[in-house]
Amino acid sequence: MPAHAAEKTYQIGTDVTYPPFEFANSNNKYVGIDIDLMNAIAKTENFKVNIKAIGFNAAVQALQSGQIDGVMAGMAITPERQEKFDFSDPYYKTGFVMAVAKNSHIRNFKQLRGKRVALKTGTAAAAYAESLKAKYGFRTVIFDDSDNMYNDVTTGNSIACFEDNPVMQYAIKTGLKLKIVTKPAQGGHYGFAVMKGQNQELLTKFNAGLRKIKKNGQYNKIVNTYLDNSA
Ligand code: GLN
Repeated sequence: MPAHAAEKTYQIGTDVTYPPFEFANSNNKYVGIDIDLMNAIAKTENFKVNIKAIGFNAAVQALQSGQIDGVMAGMAITPERQEKFDFSDPYYKTGFVMAVAKNSHIRNFKQLRGKRVALKTGTAAAAYAESLKAKYGFRTVIFDDSDNMYNDVTTGNSIACFEDNPVMQYAIKTGLKLKIVTKPAQGGHYGFAVMKGQNQELLTKFNAGLRKIKKNGQYNKIVNTYLDNSA
């Protein structure tokens, strides 16, 4: 390591199932918008990254306890999280949607009364759903990753799930048997997170790199690799 002191290696935690932002491709290699953006930024700013696919909640916990340097996992910038973490400039727009099985008649929150809703642990979409729970009288079940949450709905164990719009759009486009029935709510943005007050150096590099790849077209090229412009 000291021999390459100029090129620091940062440990970056990410999710395991969050396409198009991070997912394993058919060669079991981690790819996606977040992974490609991080690699492009690291290259531009002369640092190295070790990407660890450990799951969303685990990555956030690892960051909080200082086991990793940053989280790049389609992580929404929220006021609650800003109390614990520092975020980069926003790099992608999001919002929460409710999805149900393709053949379901459920179209709104009122129809959830007494039903079971699947959520993903530690996510902003789960917090949003929890905030609606008392008013609409549904029950919740929590999963560690998106695939298991979706499966609970496709198999009919849960009536609905809550997920980020770009992620749900992509999953459906690539064959998931769910449909989106609500308009995106509480729009926000994804940001790269580091420990609060501990890693300005990395954030500064990330923001500088992000600006450069937006300017030189690399950002758009990466996003368009995974999403067409209409998505
Ligand atoms: N975008 C969601 C959040 O910020 C979930 C991220 C994820 O599951 N990887 O909570």
